Amino acid sequence: MRLHPGLNFINMRFDIITIFPNLFESFKNEALIARAQKKNIISINIHNLRDWTMDNHKTVDDRPYGGGAGMVLMVEPIKKAVAFLKSKFKNQNLKLKTRVVVFSPKGKKFDQVLARKYSKLNQLIMICGRYEGIDERVAKYIADDEISIGDYVLFGGEVPAMVVMETVSRLLPGAVGKQTSIEDESFKETKGMVKKQITKFLEYPHYTRPEVLVINGKKAKVPEVLLSGNHKKIETWRDKHSKST
Ligand code: SAH
Repeated sequence: MRLHPGLNFINMRFDIITIFPNLFESFKNEALIARAQKKNIISINIHNLRDWTMDNHKTVDDRPYGGGAGMVLMVEPIKKAVAFLKSKFKNQNLKLKTRVVVFSPKGKKFDQVLARKYSKLNQLIMICGRYEGIDERVAKYIADDEISIGDYVLFGGEVPAMVVMETVSRLLPGAVGKQTSIEDESFKETKGMVKKQITKFLEYPHYTRPEVLVINGKKAKVPEVLLSGNHKKIETWRDKHSKST
């Protein structure tokens, strides 16, 4: 763990800039994500973009230059928010490894390799777009990475921020009950591979009780070998039913 003694600084700090902070309430407070915060493995800090607006109406968006449908998130509140979040720890003499991410369908595709890189950071600042998107100058001058979570269009960047937080948190020591469950998982890295590359390993199927049940009139059974107690045979079956390319 990279805990900084005495400074109460957390292993991995997520800062999210959004205009819908409430969306993160239950996400933050449930299950392993909640536990990881209690264990000081991560901290999740939600920031309302409107706190950095300059007018009484707390305006965050404006009409697109050149015309067209929808509204665009303006640069200035985002620029201020990011500057504030980056500077927050400067006075503590901490050399933080920080990265700033902006979400967009045209960004680089998020995957396990990138998640692994992010898991080595101390602070990940994420900017969530809404409406028609964000003024392009945010991607160009403020963010380090422009990230997409897949080839489809969402209402906003909040779900992508949750996707990134779950994937990265899972990789931090102590976040998942048993370390082995993340070591042997889909997209794991294989030794000897060129750096940055991972094998496309996809884990074998899982089964639990009951051994047999009827679904749509069909007898749905657990593969016999898994009930055999023969570890060698089970391993062979699992190897056969995982994919590696
Ligand atoms: N007009 C844009 C879509 C805007 S959707 C277009 O045609 O590409 C509004 C916001 O949702 C985006 O600014 C982005 O932050 C987020 N978003 C939508 N789909 C996303 C995806 N697949 N990956 C990451 N972010 C996405």
